[in-house]
Amino acid sequence: METIELRGCLEDELIEICKENGLKRFRASQLFQWVQQKTVRTWEEMKNIGDRDRQILRSRLSLYPLGKVREQRSEDGTRKYLFRLNDGETIECVLMDYERTRSRDRHTVCVSTQVGCAVGCAFCATGLQGLQRNLSVGEIAGQVLDITHYVRQEDPDFQVTNIVFMGMGEPLLNYDQVLKAIQLLNHEQGQNIGMRRMTISTCGVVPRIIQLAKDNPQVGLAVSLHTAQDEVRNDLIPMNRRYPLDQLMAACREYTHVTRRRITFEVALTTENARREEAEALARLLNGQFGHVNLIPVNPVVGTGMERPNPEQIKRFAQVLEDAGISVSSREERGADIDAACGQLRRLWEGEL
Ligand code: SF4
Repeated sequence: METIELRGCLEDELIEICKENGLKRFRASQLFQWVQQKTVRTWEEMKNIGDRDRQILRSRLSLYPLGKVREQRSEDGTRKYLFRLNDGETIECVLMDYERTRSRDRHTVCVSTQVGCAVGCAFCATGLQGLQRNLSVGEIAGQVLDITHYVRQEDPDFQVTNIVFMGMGEPLLNYDQVLKAIQLLNHEQGQNIGMRRMTISTCGVVPRIIQLAKDNPQVGLAVSLHTAQDEVRNDLIPMNRRYPLDQLMAACREYTHVTRRRITFEVALTTENARREEAEALARLLNGQFGHVNLIPVNPVVGTGMERPNPEQIKRFAQVLEDAGISVSSREERGADIDAACGQLRRLWEGEL
């Protein structure tokens, strides 16, 4: 009989499996808490589950913790992990600003949702690799569980508080798995991370943005916008050819209408686009949107030819938006010394860079 991935199961699903196998209901709760709350990585660690029941459960459920291939620590406290999946593929996952935010109790993890990515954005190291496959629910949630496991070895009270689905892959192209992973990570007997502390970042998969507003209006949405011009965006984000800016803006308006939640519009700034005319076009495009612009000066990525603008250029760009009444901030570069641009660590490891 084929086994089911334990770390991808909701408590209700474990209750069903226990019932089918003649086990008491409380076993499901124990199992769920061991895996989702205490982040154990082996069956042997589940001390209150007896040998007989454990054998039965092992015949139905598989437990695949992610193998830590490499961990890099940045001077700013960012930790970047390269994890190996059960089939040998690798993914990246980043714990942002850990050292600096230690006292503030805000620990954000940037999670991957696919191995590689089919979208192929021009500025993105992951996009250069193409899509290998979607991640399963257990592999998505497992990144948070395993980072928690590793950090707790040094800091037993460590708890992830915020999640951004902004790592490798386009989350809305692995929609069902991402939504279920969110449900798991939100579960009060598990990591208990508030829905409003989780944010999905998309390059603009229009039908899924509208669907997300209905399926989970609590979770946050960030849109990788980058430019207000279709012809430029077509080259930067090939998905724009399918869902151009007028469709994307209409979907964003519908999203905010249904959810009453503000959207974060991400704009990666390079020496190419950090110009006054670009900022003015952006201000016109976002006129009337319930949103906030997050400017992200890019980390240079080998193979893309992109360069980071200087602080003065960034300031001038932000000022144009502010003058137009648009809320704007500039995200600090994190982990620049550890290749924290998405996909870079994996490519380094595999000898592509
Ligand atoms: S930026 Fe995101 S959507 Fe674009 S190629 Fe990279 S991982 Fe894919």
